[in-house]
Amino acid sequence: TKWVYVFGDGRAEGSAGDKNLLGGKGANLAEMCSLGLPVPPGFTVTTELCAHYYANDRTYPDELKPQVEAALEEVGKVAGRRFGDPAKPLLVSVRSGARASMPGMMDTVLNLGLNDKTVEAVAAEAGDARFAYDSYRRFIQMYCNVVLGLDHDVFEEILEEEKARLGYEVDTEFTAGDWQNVIALYQSKIEAELGAPFPQDPFEQLWGAVGAVFSSWMNHRAVTYRRLHDIPESWGTAVNVQAMVFGNRGEDSATGVAFTRNPSTGEKALYGEFLVNAQGEDVVAGIRTPQNITEAARLEAGSDKPSLEKLMPEAFASFIAIADALERHYCDMQDLEFTIERGKLWMLQTRSGKRTASAALKVAVDMATEGLITREQAVARIDAASLDQLLHPTIDPDAPRDVIGIGLPASPGAATGAIVFSSEAAEEAKAEGRPVILVRVETSPEDIHGMHAAEGILTTRGGMTSHAAVVARGMGKPCVSGAGSLRVDHKTGVLLAMGQTFKKGDVITIDGATGQVLKGAVPMLRPELSGDFSTIMGWADEARRMKVRANAETPADARTARSFGAEGIGLCRTEHMFFDDGRILAMREMILADTESERRAALDKLLPMQRSDFTEIFEVMAGLPVTIRLLDPPLHEFLPKTEEEIAEVASAMGVSAEKLRQRTESLHEFNPMLGHRGCRLAVSYPEIAEMQARAIFEAAAEAAAKAGAPVVPEIMVPLVGMLSELDFVKARIDAVAKKVMGESGIAIDYLVGTMIELPRAALRADEIAGSAEFFSFGTNDLTQTTFGISRDDAASFLEIYRSRNIIEQDPFVSLDVDGVGELVRIAVEKGRAARGDIKLGICGEHGGDPASIRFCETVGLDYVSCSPFRVPIARLAAAQAAI
Ligand code: PEP
Ligand code: MG
Repeated sequence: TKWVYVFGDGRAEGSAGDKNLLGGKGANLAEMCSLGLPVPPGFTVTTELCAHYYANDRTYPDELKPQVEAALEEVGKVAGRRFGDPAKPLLVSVRSGARASMPGMMDTVLNLGLNDKTVEAVAAEAGDARFAYDSYRRFIQMYCNVVLGLDHDVFEEILEEEKARLGYEVDTEFTAGDWQNVIALYQSKIEAELGAPFPQDPFEQLWGAVGAVFSSWMNHRAVTYRRLHDIPESWGTAVNVQAMVFGNRGEDSATGVAFTRNPSTGEKALYGEFLVNAQGEDVVAGIRTPQNITEAARLEAGSDKPSLEKLMPEAFASFIAIADALERHYCDMQDLEFTIERGKLWMLQTRSGKRTASAALKVAVDMATEGLITREQAVARIDAASLDQLLHPTIDPDAPRDVIGIGLPASPGAATGAIVFSSEAAEEAKAEGRPVILVRVETSPEDIHGMHAAEGILTTRGGMTSHAAVVARGMGKPCVSGAGSLRVDHKTGVLLAMGQTFKKGDVITIDGATGQVLKGAVPMLRPELSGDFSTIMGWADEARRMKVRANAETPADARTARSFGAEGIGLCRTEHMFFDDGRILAMREMILADTESERRAALDKLLPMQRSDFTEIFEVMAGLPVTIRLLDPPLHEFLPKTEEEIAEVASAMGVSAEKLRQRTESLHEFNPMLGHRGCRLAVSYPEIAEMQARAIFEAAAEAAAKAGAPVVPEIMVPLVGMLSELDFVKARIDAVAKKVMGESGIAIDYLVGTMIELPRAALRADEIAGSAEFFSFGTNDLTQTTFGISRDDAASFLEIYRSRNIIEQDPFVSLDVDGVGELVRIAVEKGRAARGDIKLGICGEHGGDPASIRFCETVGLDYVSCSPFRVPIARLAAAQAAI
């Protein structure tokens, strides 16, 4: 088996198409090499080896060693050096590179190949002993940390002590001799801690680093990241070994990262940062504040530090040309890493750049307009779920702002929450339902879970490409980074801001659009959607087959739904119309009524409320289809709980509190979700369904009388398992329809259909379709009843199931295609066979989940219905499913 792929000197064994085998980084390095771009030579050990490693007790196949040695030989030839050579040593970097980019998840070792001998050769060759020994001590630190598992602090302590002893302020004051001293101290410390000296054999170093990369595939951070991003464990990571180039060779050297377009806004302008005389990860680590690459960006930022354009015009010019070529080559916005060594530019990475949702829209629309991609490609390229970010609130511009600090606008949106200083505290707060802002000096991959739990992230250090900024943008969380005027004092647990002190629990607001940090909670506005948003939505609408409706039960929700482009209401949950303070009382009277006449009295109170709701909804929807579901109240949600509530209902009903308490107790159910709900309620108390049908038909008659587009209400019976249940309720509905038409003299068109949310209904769908004119898949209940997992109690153990790999995804979030999906498929086939023109839709939560929507397209549903804010996501996902 070929485990090793070499690249360098304009040739490569792999290409961009080999991402699965070589990982994203390796595949793109090979591609850049073949394009003739300046890439330091190197080789990639395949992801297949990672799989082999884990399948074989963390060991390598025998052929690996000779392959790696041959590759090193070749890389050395290109670089004009030899690995381990005491005179002209080849130094390498060792990095991970998975198929999907996992920023900051894996570990990197630079300067590998240095030892007590080769460091002297490097010093002599560079004519710069300080550089050589500084590189060596960095290598020792990094290697010990990543490969040997020694804590960073061990070295920091020695460094700080030396600094104090020598009376230095900053690291740059260290001389070559000082560094040699530090290295000696490091080495004896390592021997004391590990019982063995620091490895001097470059090959031993290399195999150690390779093993560390593969091991890190299973470290906690990587496992968490994969879980959050649904990356399968089986993919594995590749290892990239590459000749070192040095950005820390003096004032004519630099290292940087850039995006070919602005990753925050999508604006077509190269956007990036660099550091002079710095190595590798310094830019991303956010330890020094970086400089702008272009002069335009420097001016815009108002920075007084020179841009790369001014500082190194030649390297800048080649970089711009390469950036442009790469964007055209990949037809996508690129995220680039580069190093300039003594004026010469080297490309270290290119990949498709992560971007905010609004930047993604702008880039896609612009590129389609520029003719780089087609409209369909533009639509396909947007991560539908990310549109959620655009629906984030922003701060009301008219609201007073008490600004206590300012940083970089690292990720858009505004958020308010109580201050927490640790990811653990953020998670605890989240579990208790308290919104928090995670405040850190800087974040690291260990903070991913805390960032997820927080409403927003604030850091006091680091640039726009710092860990916090990159990760927050990916998550769609508001983030302000590098707010340098703020100080986090971990010892006393406070945030110091302009003379004020904030403790854990104090409320602040961050504005990811301006970088402002504000005291207290600040009024927010709903987001404005850009022109690019409607352009993409327009293109998506042209491409999709399925309709998109919304689940909405108030006129306000219906309006929101329409403003987001909903083409009807797919589910109006009528019980939700009675949660309101003024109405719940009448609802409780109805539920708790002892006799039919008591119940009718309560229903008489509910009728006008229902009718006016429907009238308004019909008006808002102006002729678009509206599916109204008859009451489906899990009764426990409505029963009075406190003594006060019981007393209130008792007095309204004119009965004693004692009697009402008894009645409440008699209605108690052990499994309310499988209890007296859905059509079972209509079967027991047909007068309830009759009242609702009357309200619907009267409202429809009113709408018809007002002219305009007549509504065709779709009346939906919930939780049907048997045809006889549906028939019983349908007969009542039809009777009321006849009556209302007689009374009003207006003919009303309507449909009667059913939810398919029980396995029996799916299995008997042909029979049920005899009476049902439409099916709407209630996949919430269908998931609950198919798995036998309670919707209300699943959270407590589904997380455990996920962590133990029993399930990959929460089936209440993304449809279980294999099981629940099979039932849907059966019902679709049987339903269609029995009634050719049956209307089919879905209205469970899955109707707004892109993966589930893809499934709906494959089984040929007519529409999906989801919550109003997810309508844009569904429109886009439906288009992507159809493309
Ligand atoms: C469902 O069960 O999927 C559904 C839409 O109904 P509800 O969530 O109201 O039970
Ligand atoms: Mg249901």
